Amino acid sequence: MSKIIVIIGAPGAGKGTQSRLLSEKYGYPQISTGDILREMAQADTPLGRKIKETMASGKLVSDEILAEVILARTSQPDCQEGYILDGYPRTLEQAHLLEDLARKQQKSVVFMRVGVHEETLFKRLTGRRTCAKCGEIYNVYLRPPKIEGVCDLDGAPLTHRSDDNPESVSKRLEEYRQSTAPLIDYYRESGRLVEVDGELPVEEVFDKLRAVIESSDGQ
Ligand code: AMP
Repeated sequence: MSKIIVIIGAPGAGKGTQSRLLSEKYGYPQISTGDILREMAQADTPLGRKIKETMASGKLVSDEILAEVILARTSQPDCQEGYILDGYPRTLEQAHLLEDLARKQQKSVVFMRVGVHEETLFKRLTGRRTCAKCGEIYNVYLRPPKIEGVCDLDGAPLTHRSDDNPESVSKRLEEYRQSTAPLIDYYRESGRLVEVDGELPVEEVFDKLRAVIESSDGQ
């Protein structure tokens, strides 16, 4: 049965990094709702402006908009064998939609949580820099590039997300505690959640996630 791989975690927990590695390993597309919304926010339309404003404030974009995004993206042919959700679901309503979707698409779901302490999250987010070309993620405190502001891999400039400033980060973490953290209990209670320590080095977290995926029957 084809799989939906779900990685749940606070902003800065490493969802993006791990989803990318898993995507390379299994050939499933990485669906980052944050990336899709950032792209939509560039359009100078009422919808684009609304999304941009919400993201800048550190709040969550509405479940209705997310439903459209996720239905449209997961209906693409490249999702047929399976896909990785990076940043979805983030509310209980989104979790319910995902359950319906998995049933309709006849896919099993693997839920994994990457847990990281709050002090680490703050440092990871405010120090994060991303390669504009290949998407490689650096951190000015924890994993600086060899040359400041330049990607080690392809020499492209590194970008700093506009919502990775201390004020937006505090709001995003607050939004996470309020809206997304309850999802962890929801999945935990139903016995479907596998938890991985996100403080471990990237490669070790990756190995653990891989082991979960390979041992799961997807239920
Ligand atoms: P991310 O790149 O995953 O950190 O997401 C950046 C921002 O996009 C979040 O702070 C939200 O404003 C928005 N966003 C991403 N995914 C979702 C989602 N599943 N539900 C609501 N808002 C989202």
